[in-house]
Amino acid sequence: MLDIKQIRENPERIQAIADQKGIEVSIPELLRRDDDRRLLRRRIEELRQERNRQSEEIARLVKRDSRENTERKKRRVKELNGRLRALEADCREAEREYRRLMMLVPNIVSPDTPIGRSDADNVELKRVGGLPSFAFEPRDHVALGELHRMIDIPRGVKTAGSRHYYLTGAGALLHRAVQQLALDLLTAGGFRLLEVPLMVRGEALTNTGFFPLGESQTYRMAEDGKWLVGTSEVPLVSYYSGEIVDVSEPIRLAAVSMCFRNEVGSAGRDVHGLYRVHQFSKVEQVVICEDNLELSERLFDEITRNAEQLLQLLELPYRVMAVCTGDMSQKTYKQVDIETWMPSRRAYGETHSSSNLLDFQARRSNIRYRDAEGRVRFCHTLNNTAVASPRILIPLLENHQEEDGSIRIPPALRKYINGIEYLRP
Ligand code: AMP
Repeated sequence: MLDIKQIRENPERIQAIADQKGIEVSIPELLRRDDDRRLLRRRIEELRQERNRQSEEIARLVKRDSRENTERKKRRVKELNGRLRALEADCREAEREYRRLMMLVPNIVSPDTPIGRSDADNVELKRVGGLPSFAFEPRDHVALGELHRMIDIPRGVKTAGSRHYYLTGAGALLHRAVQQLALDLLTAGGFRLLEVPLMVRGEALTNTGFFPLGESQTYRMAEDGKWLVGTSEVPLVSYYSGEIVDVSEPIRLAAVSMCFRNEVGSAGRDVHGLYRVHQFSKVEQVVICEDNLELSERLFDEITRNAEQLLQLLELPYRVMAVCTGDMSQKTYKQVDIETWMPSRRAYGETHSSSNLLDFQARRSNIRYRDAEGRVRFCHTLNNTAVASPRILIPLLENHQEEDGSIRIPPALRKYINGIEYLRP
């Protein structure tokens, strides 16, 4: 959420950002609604004062005043009460509409964010690592998974429907191994590990900026109306909602969690293998810091570097992309995605997404701190994937395969998988 003052001072700029992000919201309408509710609040206040004055007078003068006068004043109080009730209902409606529109207003974007409509307009910032060249016909991760009895998609579909899978044996071990490697990296970097709730109230999703726009992407539990999170960013940020926190040192949080996404709108996309599934696991980084752009930009680089370090330890080629306005979410000020080389796609595929939200999420979640002068201010929040699996297994298996189907385990991962150097079919 932006400060309404900021919107009032820059209505054209905010409207342009909404248009660039593809969000349907009318800033002039929002400002009209804001005027309405302010006017109604003022009017209600005036009427309340008049009603109170009249009531006091009746009480004071009742003995001395003529019966006729008293009756007239009573009628006036009654009339004022009726008008107040009507105005209060109008005001509630204006507030509701104002809030609905405010919840649609996007965050501002950084000056270096490319303007564009979709991921095709994202801009490559750098490439790291050479692409593998195979002297044989490489297998894709599904074939490798079957060869090693590591990935079982038919049984996943049998049990749970499309976009479901089982990881078995070495597949399940590799999945755990990459998570533990990521967690060890993060805890060594000062991140605090949390085990988090995955079924949350709608309010947590609204406060963290996923609702209302992402509602159709989210699974709802029919029984109690709670929602299954699509990322642990939601419970990690919500941990501090409504609180005044100590950010004299930035708060670095990490969680490993299942993520549930119904992938509405992805029908027919990435239907082969493990790329786009309904349930996956993610080690997430969340940082909460002071409202200080220079600091949050440094932290943005830090969480992006953490992801790069993981990919370097896994010896995987990747590139870093500046995400354009049209491919960004409502809440994001600046985003870079990391895409890792996936031989079967003959392309880089997104594996990480790093975002700086400035105070947008903290405003909605009401997460504040006291600055050096004792003033209470909203924090900045940031997040990035550390590793998402099973998607990361695609480049891991495919890039490190050998002609006979063996898979070389990069040294950094070996201690998490019983010292194994090669998985042999
Ligand atoms: P996001 O939270 O949308 O920025 O996604 C973070 C990372 O989670 C992506 O870069 C992917 O590695 C992974 N991911 C997102 N959606 C899916 C999905 N439907 N299936 C598998 N992995 C996913």
